[in-house]
Amino acid sequence: MEGEGTMADTYTDLCYGCKRFTEIAWTEGGTDRPFCLSCTEAMPPTRDQLNMLLLLAPWSPIGPPFRPGDVVEARTGAVVLDGVGTVRRMSTSLEDGATPIYPTFLVVITEKAHDQAPDEAWYTEVCLTRVDEIPADGGDL
Ligand SMILES: [Zn+2]
Repeated sequence: MEGEGTMADTYTDLCYGCKRFTEIAWTEGGTDRPFCLSCTEAMPPTRDQLNMLLLLAPWSPIGPPFRPGDVVEARTGAVVLDGVGTVRRMSTSLEDGATPIYPTFLVVITEKAHDQAPDEAWYTEVCLTRVDEIPADGGDL
């Protein structure tokens, strides 16, 4: 009978980060490079993870180009003005025509520029122009 039957999911290998033969905590997708726990915690995120962080994190110095509540001009194909509307939410889902790097924004058109303008639609960043920026502190009175 075996004395210990746990830790079946872990294995040891040469860590790609610190070059030590140690317990592997994570394998990089795409490259299959193994990393130990301390290297995983120390290493910068992958490019995709970084792009997601830069877009979505509230502390991000870049942040998403538009946030829910922003009043924007929306143009189909970045050319035809559909009207002025309000950003409802952001998507990074392929189903909404977006990617993690190029999100789309659901805009509710409140002032339609023409009869065929949609009530609401997904737009990419290049199709939207911010109409007014609300100051974060509300401004002085
Ligand atoms: Zn390591």
